[in-house]
Amino acid sequence: RKLTPSLFFCPLQVELHVHLDGAIKPETILYFGRKRGLPLPADTAEELQNIISMDKPGSLPGFLAKFEYYMPVIAGCREAIERIAYEFVEMKAKEGVVYVEVRYSPHLLANCDVEPVPWNQTKGDLTPDEVVRLVNQGLRAGEHAFGVKARSILCCMRHQPNWSLEVLDLCKKYHQQTVVAIDLAGDETIKGSSLFLGHMAAYEGAVKHGIHRTVHAGEVGSAEVVRQAVDILKTERVGHGYHTLEDEALYQRLRRGNMHFEVCPWSSYLTGAWKPETQHAVVRFKNDRANYSLNSDDPLIFKSTLDTDYQMTKRDMGFTEEEFKRMNINAAKSSFLPENEKRELLDKLCRAYQLPPQATTGMFLLGPGHHPALLCSVHDPYKSPSSRACWSPSCCGLFSEQLLSGKTGLREAS
Ligand SMILES: [Zn+2]
Repeated sequence: RKLTPSLFFCPLQVELHVHLDGAIKPETILYFGRKRGLPLPADTAEELQNIISMDKPGSLPGFLAKFEYYMPVIAGCREAIERIAYEFVEMKAKEGVVYVEVRYSPHLLANCDVEPVPWNQTKGDLTPDEVVRLVNQGLRAGEHAFGVKARSILCCMRHQPNWSLEVLDLCKKYHQQTVVAIDLAGDETIKGSSLFLGHMAAYEGAVKHGIHRTVHAGEVGSAEVVRQAVDILKTERVGHGYHTLEDEALYQRLRRGNMHFEVCPWSSYLTGAWKPETQHAVVRFKNDRANYSLNSDDPLIFKSTLDTDYQMTKRDMGFTEEEFKRMNINAAKSSFLPENEKRELLDKLCRAYQLPPQATTGMFLLGPGHHPALLCSVHDPYKSPSSRACWSPSCCGLFSEQLLSGKTGLREAS
């Protein structure tokens, strides 16, 4: 199953699900290990990469153990944190990404004001708050140097509900200073973890303060975890979400609401979240013309680039260039950018893909009775002709006209 990088899908991609601490250059880990005098399991970047990465399907604990090798070298070090953020943007520029939302737990990179202090570090003076400032600086410098727009998402961790309200506070404090949303990451099989009070309070606060929300759910966890993410945590996107398909009614409901699934194909193969003898959920998403994106998740650990995910879906699952374009347009629409910046991004993509400009960014605008805003087939080249209904007053008047003349087919808005 070895894939060789070849960047065959060229013009401009959008990536919404990638972890900063899973996207570090091995050379940089080595550099800071030496500089700080901390032990690493290898002396060359190549050896280190091989030890850290997985190349055949493993288990979740095996995957999480990989972080133990190198996180102690990066966490607690101001220079390292700013540099990995900067180099992350450089990495994305090389992959052809035009807009990226990168996520991380500020607590897992700190060594002070965090209980417990992670990675067996001795307590220092780097707080989660300063971690966010350093990442912001690195991302901004990278954006300036490489021309890739980079925004960030701050992660709560399922096993540490005591951190979550602090994560919310950081989202509020640094809102739009690269930070655009809150996430819940970690082991979703921890029973009842979506209902831990700290997480529920943080997500409630996010709704109240207009902070966007995504949640890792249905990767290895059940459809019930997805339902809780949607109904209780009020998530706007689902990280992975493969197991949603085990509950057809839930899936149909999310489809009608135009829920965005952040799919990570290569990751799901290596973590065992997807069993290769079964059909991958992303194939169903494609066939249903659902709203999803392709993402690399943790390229350091999966020894991959975003291109790996495009190659895998194209080669093994029959994805076409047209589908990649449709999917990236949906990713842009589902990004957590403010409306005017989303519009700019969409215009940029449409030019690169040689598509007519999108009439509206408003896939999340709510129409009458809280139905999702649908674009009419005239204004959204990717809608099939059977769904020529438009709830969005900002799109066009076709809905009311066609409704009156009985010509409309309300396929998705039930
Ligand atoms: Zn993830």
